[in-house]
Amino acid sequence: LIKGGVVDEKGQVKYFLVIQTDAEKGKEEVILRLKNLISSLLSSSLSRKEKILGIGIGSPGPIQLAEGIILTPPNLPGWKDVPLKDILEKEFGLPVWLNNDANCAMLGEHWLGAAAGAENAVMLTLGTGVGGGIIIENKLYQGEDGTAGELGHMVIVKDGRKCGCGNKGCLEAYASAVALEREAVKIGLKFLNARDIFILAKKGDKKAKKVIEEMIEFLATGIANLVNIFNPKVVVLGGGLIKSSDLFLAQLKEKVSQKAFKIPAKTARIVPAILGDRAGVLGAARLVFSD
Ligand SMILES: [Zn+2]
Repeated sequence: LIKGGVVDEKGQVKYFLVIQTDAEKGKEEVILRLKNLISSLLSSSLSRKEKILGIGIGSPGPIQLAEGIILTPPNLPGWKDVPLKDILEKEFGLPVWLNNDANCAMLGEHWLGAAAGAENAVMLTLGTGVGGGIIIENKLYQGEDGTAGELGHMVIVKDGRKCGCGNKGCLEAYASAVALEREAVKIGLKFLNARDIFILAKKGDKKAKKVIEEMIEFLATGIANLVNIFNPKVVVLGGGLIKSSDLFLAQLKEKVSQKAFKIPAKTARIVPAILGDRAGVLGAARLVFSD
């Protein structure tokens, strides 16, 4: 899905739209849809006589940040080195900010969500993959080339499961919703979505329990690493898997506190994201306002 909104400087979402991505139809079609979405948002704003400062975009990575080029995102087939910032600036005559979607979610949650008021925070989005974002001293940490925060690709198992990035043993291969669903099928459950696997485990199904416990163990390992490295005030967990946080968060917290050093583990609150769909839109808007 592509989500878009008109956001004011206080973070009020004035107008919100969601459309299908239809990524399988290819690059041209997706860009066309994106342009149409932006046009609708702009005309809604125009009709209210609002002044638009710029366009913020959160997109699947990897991204060449300075130039606003989307390189070769695994989830957007056929995309290679797309200068999206240029394309949209030419089309709309407004400045465009581009960043990866997980960073935008982190920015949104830090602005107005679960990490509001935390000077230091990290976020993991547990969905199709595992995205990450890092806030250090109230600023998004982007690294030397703007590629920092790929927390889903920290290796937690030597020679472990194959990851979509080509490496082995990444957190993403153990803690995404897709990984959970795949492992459940591997040990003989019929295909279920992540939420149903959690519910089955709660009802006492041994196989479901086993895959869930494994997932929690690996996720806790990843979070304990983050807690030891960053000493964050808040660890925000977002993405589809978090709809089931009522069924696993307590156990996850327990495991993290066993694995991490005592002091940072005591500081870090592990909390579900609260902005849902809107985190990315708010974060993308934040790119515009905070520049
Ligand atoms: Zn990876």
